[in-house]
Amino acid sequence: MVRARVVRTERTSPHFVTVTLGGEELSAFEFLGLDQCTRLFLPRAGQSSLRLPTAAHNGWIAQYYLMSARDKPYVRNYTVRRFDAERRELDIEFVVHGDTGPASAWAAGAVAGEEVGLFAEGVYYLPSPGTDWQLLVGDESALPAVASVLEQAPPDLRAEVYLEVPGADDVRELVVPEGVNTHWLVREDPGAVPGRLASRTVRAALADGGLPEGRPYCFLAGERDLPTGLRRTLVREHGVAKADVTFVGYWRHGRSYLG
Ligand SMILES: Cc1cc2nc3c(=O)[nH]c(=O)nc-3n(C[C@H](O)[C@H](O)[C@H](O)COP(=O)(O)OP(=O)(O)OC[C@H]3O[C@@H](n4cnc5c(N)ncnc54)[C@H](O)[C@@H]3O)c2cc1C
Repeated sequence: MVRARVVRTERTSPHFVTVTLGGEELSAFEFLGLDQCTRLFLPRAGQSSLRLPTAAHNGWIAQYYLMSARDKPYVRNYTVRRFDAERRELDIEFVVHGDTGPASAWAAGAVAGEEVGLFAEGVYYLPSPGTDWQLLVGDESALPAVASVLEQAPPDLRAEVYLEVPGADDVRELVVPEGVNTHWLVREDPGAVPGRLASRTVRAALADGGLPEGRPYCFLAGERDLPTGLRRTLVREHGVAKADVTFVGYWRHGRSYLG
């Protein structure tokens, strides 16, 4: 567990805020790259100091649940968007989805000097050896993970990338190898559940034979119904091996993350 402080924030686009965290303790953060995830611990309103579990590995979970409601920080999962070991800085790119989410609200109003806790977790993106191309699909919560994976991809990567974002101004230039086709899907309707448009679009491309031939490795992430539903379609209707699909429910529509 390491402590860090907000160094600066930047509104990356209308629905994204990048928070740069820094501090001496980040030299102990074990950075793995790709879509590496970190547990992020945030103070609750009214807490004067941030209380953090101290145990290594999964021991922190037991400690966390034994903390009193008053002391317990919020804990959420976020992708490490950038890590600069020399400057001891770490970026997290938050989707700003309103005040109902403590993490979203915190990011939207974060100010320099605020303290957070970080617990490094692992990577989910683990392409199977021997696949011919990749299918990467995500809603906006998975944009940081997909962007990081693509920035670190080998130059010969062949991939079809489908990214759903809330508005046209959230579309951005990604650093990708030449064999990567990026399909931006702009939701526009603020009432629509994130991920549904991406699911529909990829299903239509699969049905039309609009995707490359050969064996794909698939990485699906975002609102829970997107990865679980699309995996079912890929496996049951298109003969993709379960082992060639990584699917991660990043959040659930209408449900707050526990803690
Ligand atoms: C491995 C992993 C990596 C992740 N990386 C990132 C990342 O880099 N950036 C990022 O923004 N998120 C990321 N997420 C998702 C993030 O953890 C969740 O969105 C989290 O629930 C946000 O916490 P909150 O306190 O804002 O909202 P919560 O308290 O969890 O939820 C409050 C309400 O907001 C809704 N909600 C939660 N998230 C969203 C959303 N993204 N859009 C719309 N409504 C939402 C919930 O359904 C609920 O109704 C990642 C999740 C995982 C598992």
